[in-house]
Amino acid sequence: MMARLTRIADRYQLAERERGLSFVQRYERQLRQLEKIIRISDQYQQMLRELNEELQRTASHDLLTGLFNRRYLYDRLGEELGKAARGHGQFALAMADVDLFKQINDSYGHDIGDAALCHVARQLAAPLREYDLCGRWGGEEFLLLFPGGDLEAAQQGIQRIRQRLQDEPFVHDGRVCPLTLSFGVTEYRQGESTTAILKRVDEALYRAKHAGRDCLECA
Ligand code: GH3
Ligand code: MG
Ligand code: MG
Repeated sequence: MMARLTRIADRYQLAERERGLSFVQRYERQLRQLEKIIRISDQYQQMLRELNEELQRTASHDLLTGLFNRRYLYDRLGEELGKAARGHGQFALAMADVDLFKQINDSYGHDIGDAALCHVARQLAAPLREYDLCGRWGGEEFLLLFPGGDLEAAQQGIQRIRQRLQDEPFVHDGRVCPLTLSFGVTEYRQGESTTAILKRVDEALYRAKHAGRDCLECA
Protein backbone atom coordinates (compact mmCIF):
# COMPACT_ATOMS: atom_id res chain seq x y z
CA MET A 1 0.00 0.00 0.00
CA MET A 2 2.80 2.49 0.97
CA ALA A 3 4.81 1.55 -2.13
CA ARG A 4 1.77 2.24 -4.26
CA LEU A 5 1.30 5.65 -2.62
CA THR A 6 4.97 6.54 -3.27
CA ARG A 7 4.71 5.50 -6.93
CA ILE A 8 1.66 7.68 -7.40
CA ALA A 9 3.32 10.64 -5.67
CA ASP A 10 6.35 10.26 -8.01
CA ARG A 11 4.13 10.21 -11.03
CA TYR A 12 2.35 13.27 -9.68
CA GLN A 13 5.66 15.20 -9.57
CA LEU A 14 6.54 14.01 -13.05
CA ALA A 15 3.29 15.40 -14.36
CA GLU A 16 4.30 18.77 -12.88
CA ARG A 17 7.37 18.76 -15.04
CA GLU A 18 5.49 18.00 -18.20
CA ARG A 19 5.85 21.19 -20.20
CA GLY A 20 4.02 20.21 -23.34
CA LEU A 21 0.56 20.21 -21.81
CA SER A 22 -1.77 23.16 -21.56
CA PHE A 23 -2.62 24.59 -18.17
CA VAL A 24 -6.14 23.08 -18.21
CA GLN A 25 -4.79 19.66 -19.24
CA ARG A 26 -2.17 19.76 -16.50
CA TYR A 27 -4.75 20.89 -13.96
CA GLU A 28 -7.18 18.07 -14.86
CA ARG A 29 -4.43 15.52 -14.82
CA GLN A 30 -3.24 16.60 -11.40
CA LEU A 31 -6.80 16.58 -10.13
CA ARG A 32 -7.23 12.97 -11.27
CA GLN A 33 -4.00 11.99 -9.56
CA LEU A 34 -5.08 13.66 -6.33
CA GLU A 35 -8.43 11.90 -6.42
CA LYS A 36 -6.62 8.61 -6.85
CA ILE A 37 -4.38 9.34 -3.84
CA ILE A 38 -7.44 10.21 -1.73
CA ARG A 39 -9.16 6.96 -2.79
CA ILE A 40 -6.14 4.87 -1.85
CA SER A 41 -5.75 6.73 1.42
CA ASP A 42 -9.42 6.03 2.23
CA GLN A 43 -8.94 2.32 1.45
CA TYR A 44 -5.84 2.31 3.63
CA GLN A 45 -7.70 3.88 6.56
CA GLN A 46 -10.60 1.43 6.14
CA MET A 47 -8.12 -1.46 6.16
CA LEU A 48 -6.55 -0.14 9.39
CA ARG A 49 -9.99 0.26 10.99
CA GLU A 50 -10.90 -3.35 10.15
CA LEU A 51 -7.55 -4.60 11.40
CA ASN A 52 -8.03 -2.70 14.65
CA GLU A 53 -11.53 -4.13 15.16
CA GLU A 54 -10.22 -7.64 14.51
CA LEU A 55 -7.39 -7.06 16.98
CA GLN A 56 -9.78 -5.84 19.66
CA ARG A 57 -12.05 -8.84 19.13
CA THR A 58 -9.15 -11.27 19.31
CA ALA A 59 -7.92 -9.64 22.52
CA SER A 60 -11.28 -9.99 24.28
CA HIS A 61 -12.78 -13.20 22.84
CA ASP A 62 -12.08 -16.90 23.04
CA LEU A 63 -11.10 -18.33 19.66
CA LEU A 64 -12.95 -21.65 20.00
CA THR A 65 -16.30 -20.66 21.52
CA GLY A 66 -16.53 -16.99 20.54
CA LEU A 67 -17.38 -16.11 24.14
CA PHE A 68 -15.45 -13.50 26.10
CA ASN A 69 -12.01 -14.69 27.21
CA ARG A 70 -10.46 -14.79 30.65
CA ARG A 71 -8.58 -11.50 30.28
CA TYR A 72 -11.77 -9.60 29.36
CA LEU A 73 -13.78 -11.24 32.14
CA TYR A 74 -11.08 -10.45 34.67
CA ASP A 75 -11.13 -6.76 33.65
CA ARG A 76 -14.93 -6.61 33.78
CA LEU A 77 -14.95 -8.32 37.16
CA GLY A 78 -12.53 -5.64 38.39
CA GLU A 79 -14.82 -2.91 37.06
CA GLU A 80 -17.91 -4.39 38.72
CA LEU A 81 -15.99 -4.81 41.94
CA GLY A 82 -14.84 -1.18 41.80
CA LYS A 83 -18.42 0.04 41.25
CA ALA A 84 -19.80 -2.13 44.05
CA ALA A 85 -17.02 -1.02 46.41
CA ARG A 86 -18.01 2.62 45.78
CA GLY A 87 -21.58 1.73 46.69
CA HIS A 88 -22.92 1.69 43.12
CA GLY A 89 -24.73 -1.61 43.08
CA GLN A 90 -24.29 -5.28 43.75
CA PHE A 91 -23.25 -8.17 41.52
CA ALA A 92 -23.17 -11.95 41.58
CA LEU A 93 -20.71 -14.38 40.07
CA ALA A 94 -20.85 -18.03 39.02
CA MET A 95 -18.21 -20.51 37.91
CA ALA A 96 -19.38 -23.43 35.77
CA ASP A 97 -17.42 -26.57 34.94
CA VAL A 98 -18.48 -29.30 32.50
CA ASP A 99 -18.92 -32.61 34.31
CA LEU A 100 -16.68 -35.52 33.36
CA PHE A 101 -15.66 -33.80 30.18
CA LYS A 102 -12.55 -35.91 29.82
CA GLN A 103 -14.85 -38.84 29.04
CA ILE A 104 -16.28 -36.94 26.04
CA ASN A 105 -12.78 -36.47 24.64
CA ASP A 106 -11.84 -40.06 25.41
CA SER A 107 -15.02 -41.49 23.85
CA TYR A 108 -15.41 -39.29 20.76
CA GLY A 109 -12.08 -37.55 20.20
CA HIS A 110 -10.82 -34.02 20.73
CA ASP A 111 -12.66 -32.46 17.74
CA ILE A 112 -16.04 -33.65 18.96
CA GLY A 113 -14.97 -32.45 22.41
CA ASP A 114 -14.42 -29.01 20.88
CA ALA A 115 -17.86 -29.12 19.25
CA ALA A 116 -19.38 -30.11 22.60
CA LEU A 117 -17.67 -27.13 24.26
CA CYS A 118 -19.10 -24.80 21.61
CA HIS A 119 -22.55 -26.26 22.23
CA VAL A 120 -22.20 -25.68 25.97
CA ALA A 121 -21.02 -22.12 25.30
CA ARG A 122 -24.14 -21.38 23.22
CA GLN A 123 -26.45 -22.85 25.85
CA LEU A 124 -24.74 -20.80 28.56
CA ALA A 125 -24.99 -17.52 26.70
CA ALA A 126 -28.49 -17.83 25.21
CA PRO A 127 -30.70 -17.61 28.33
CA LEU A 128 -28.77 -14.78 29.99
CA ARG A 129 -30.11 -11.25 30.32
CA GLU A 130 -28.67 -8.64 27.98
CA TYR A 131 -26.31 -7.15 30.58
CA ASP A 132 -25.15 -10.47 32.09
CA LEU A 133 -21.77 -11.71 30.91
CA CYS A 134 -20.52 -15.14 30.09
CA GLY A 135 -17.05 -16.22 29.04
CA ARG A 136 -14.58 -19.06 28.92
CA TRP A 137 -12.37 -19.00 31.98
CA GLY A 138 -10.21 -21.80 30.60
CA GLY A 139 -10.49 -25.42 29.40
CA GLU A 140 -14.05 -26.57 30.13
CA GLU A 141 -14.67 -23.89 32.73
CA PHE A 142 -16.86 -20.83 32.27
CA LEU A 143 -17.42 -17.67 34.29
CA LEU A 144 -20.78 -15.91 34.54
CA LEU A 145 -21.11 -12.35 35.78
CA PHE A 146 -24.46 -10.91 36.84
CA PRO A 147 -24.05 -7.12 37.18
CA GLY A 148 -26.67 -5.64 39.49
CA GLY A 149 -27.75 -9.15 40.47
CA ASP A 150 -27.72 -11.02 43.77
CA LEU A 151 -27.53 -14.74 44.58
CA GLU A 152 -31.20 -15.13 43.75
CA ALA A 153 -30.82 -13.58 40.27
CA ALA A 154 -27.75 -15.71 39.55
CA GLN A 155 -29.56 -18.89 40.62
CA GLN A 156 -32.47 -18.05 38.34
CA GLY A 157 -30.08 -17.46 35.42
CA ILE A 158 -28.35 -20.77 36.09
CA GLN A 159 -31.67 -22.58 36.33
CA ARG A 160 -32.56 -21.33 32.84
CA ILE A 161 -29.17 -22.55 31.55
CA ARG A 162 -29.60 -26.03 33.06
CA GLN A 163 -33.10 -26.27 31.63
CA ARG A 164 -31.83 -25.30 28.21
CA LEU A 165 -29.04 -27.87 28.32
CA GLN A 166 -31.66 -30.50 29.10
CA ASP A 167 -34.05 -29.34 26.37
CA GLU A 168 -31.34 -28.98 23.73
CA PRO A 169 -28.61 -31.54 24.47
CA PHE A 170 -25.45 -32.00 22.46
CA VAL A 171 -26.04 -34.43 19.59
CA HIS A 172 -23.26 -36.31 17.84
CA ASP A 173 -23.88 -38.75 14.95
CA GLY A 174 -27.61 -38.61 15.64
CA ARG A 175 -27.08 -39.67 19.25
CA VAL A 176 -27.68 -37.52 22.29
CA CYS A 177 -24.56 -37.00 24.43
CA PRO A 178 -25.87 -35.71 27.74
CA LEU A 179 -23.67 -32.97 29.16
CA THR A 180 -24.14 -31.50 32.59
CA LEU A 181 -22.48 -28.65 34.44
CA SER A 182 -21.61 -28.01 38.06
CA PHE A 183 -21.90 -24.46 39.34
CA GLY A 184 -20.44 -22.45 42.18
CA VAL A 185 -22.30 -19.21 42.89
CA THR A 186 -21.62 -16.26 45.12
CA GLU A 187 -22.28 -12.54 45.46
CA TYR A 188 -20.06 -9.58 46.21
CA ARG A 189 -19.25 -8.84 49.83
CA GLN A 190 -18.34 -5.28 50.79
CA GLY A 191 -14.62 -4.49 50.67
CA GLU A 192 -13.38 -7.78 49.25
CA SER A 193 -10.82 -8.21 46.46
CA THR A 194 -11.09 -9.92 43.06
CA THR A 195 -8.93 -12.74 44.38
CA ALA A 196 -11.20 -13.25 47.39
CA ILE A 197 -14.44 -13.48 45.40
CA LEU A 198 -12.83 -15.78 42.80
CA LYS A 199 -11.52 -18.04 45.55
CA ARG A 200 -14.98 -18.26 47.15
CA VAL A 201 -16.76 -19.06 43.87
CA ASP A 202 -14.12 -21.71 43.13
CA GLU A 203 -14.66 -23.31 46.54
CA ALA A 204 -18.42 -23.40 45.90
CA LEU A 205 -17.80 -25.13 42.57
CA TYR A 206 -15.52 -27.62 44.28
CA ARG A 207 -18.33 -28.42 46.73
CA ALA A 208 -20.77 -28.88 43.83
CA LYS A 209 -18.41 -31.45 42.30
CA HIS A 210 -18.13 -33.25 45.61
CA ALA A 211 -21.88 -33.19 46.08
CA GLY A 212 -22.16 -35.43 43.01
CA ARG A 213 -21.97 -32.92 40.06
CA ASP A 214 -24.88 -31.58 37.93
CA CYS A 215 -25.81 -29.20 40.74
CA LEU A 216 -25.30 -25.73 42.15
CA GLU A 217 -23.66 -24.69 45.40
CA CYS A 218 -23.85 -21.20 46.88
CA ALA A 219 -21.21 -19.51 48.97
P1 GH3 B 1 -14.95 -33.06 36.49
O1 GH3 B 1 -16.39 -33.40 36.48
O2 GH3 B 1 -14.31 -33.36 37.79
O3 GH3 B 1 -14.73 -31.64 36.08
O4 GH3 B 1 -14.26 -33.99 35.42
P2 GH3 B 1 -13.59 -33.58 34.04
O5 GH3 B 1 -13.33 -34.81 33.27
O6 GH3 B 1 -14.43 -32.56 33.35
O7 GH3 B 1 -12.30 -32.86 34.55
P3 GH3 B 1 -10.80 -32.99 34.14
O8 GH3 B 1 -10.15 -31.76 34.69
O9 GH3 B 1 -10.24 -34.31 34.58
O10 GH3 B 1 -10.79 -32.93 32.57
C1 GH3 B 1 -11.06 -31.81 31.86
C2 GH3 B 1 -10.81 -32.15 30.41
O11 GH3 B 1 -11.15 -31.06 29.56
C3 GH3 B 1 -9.38 -32.51 30.14
C4 GH3 B 1 -9.01 -31.66 28.95
O12 GH3 B 1 -8.34 -32.39 27.97
C5 GH3 B 1 -10.34 -31.19 28.41
N1 GH3 B 1 -10.25 -29.92 27.72
C6 GH3 B 1 -9.84 -28.73 28.20
N2 GH3 B 1 -9.87 -27.80 27.24
C7 GH3 B 1 -10.32 -28.41 26.10
C8 GH3 B 1 -10.56 -27.97 24.76
O13 GH3 B 1 -10.38 -26.81 24.39
N3 GH3 B 1 -11.03 -28.89 23.88
C9 GH3 B 1 -11.24 -30.19 24.23
N4 GH3 B 1 -11.72 -31.02 23.32
N5 GH3 B 1 -11.00 -30.64 25.48
C10 GH3 B 1 -10.55 -29.75 26.40
MG1 MG C 1 -14.86 -30.71 34.27
MG1 MG D 1 -12.24 -28.19 34.97
